[in-house]
Amino acid sequence: MKTPPRATTCVSCQKVPRVRKQAGICGKCRKSLGLAGIVGAGPYGSPLLRRGVHWLKFKGVTGVSDDLASLMLPKLLMIAPINTLQRQAILMPIPLHISRQRQRGFNQSEVLAESLSGLTKIPVNLDLVRVRKTWSQSRLPHDLRAKNMSGAFRFEGRLAPEVKWVLLVDDVSTSAATLAAAAKAWEGWDGQVWGVVAARR
Ligand SMILES: [Zn+2]
Repeated sequence: MKTPPRATTCVSCQKVPRVRKQAGICGKCRKSLGLAGIVGAGPYGSPLLRRGVHWLKFKGVTGVSDDLASLMLPKLLMIAPINTLQRQAILMPIPLHISRQRQRGFNQSEVLAESLSGLTKIPVNLDLVRVRKTWSQSRLPHDLRAKNMSGAFRFEGRLAPEVKWVLLVDDVSTSAATLAAAAKAWEGWDGQVWGVVAARR
């Protein structure tokens, strides 16, 4: 397994990870969040990524999704080689609550996951469901975000025995709270849950 580049700070506690392979998350948070790491095309501070995500999410310009996915691809391939991921990984978009999805007409994470799948041939799985409505994370201070997302997701499918990586796809991760809440759906499973996002902290 290749070593992802060193992230400047842990996406959850904002400390600098000590070990290079801890993609985006320090060792301590890795354990508490149930995430092996978070890879993203780049920081949310990048005007290109921020604007791309905004166009996709709020303006419905789904065509930008393929471009974001191609920027995410090199980072995704740091998790494992492509032929391994094709056989042993699934792309799992973070679901919206049904009422939000109706309002928006689409789920931007699903659109991104489909674009990634088109590039990589890693299958998409849509069996992660949002069972509870939550406040928009971007309007909450970081210390309330984990509580807001707690118990929000349930995996209603079954993983094939060969699956070793669940790749949670989301547009943005700034506090890791959403990804961590989703990762809880695989608590006790012996594979790895990763966050794969367009923009991260
Ligand atoms: Zn941390």
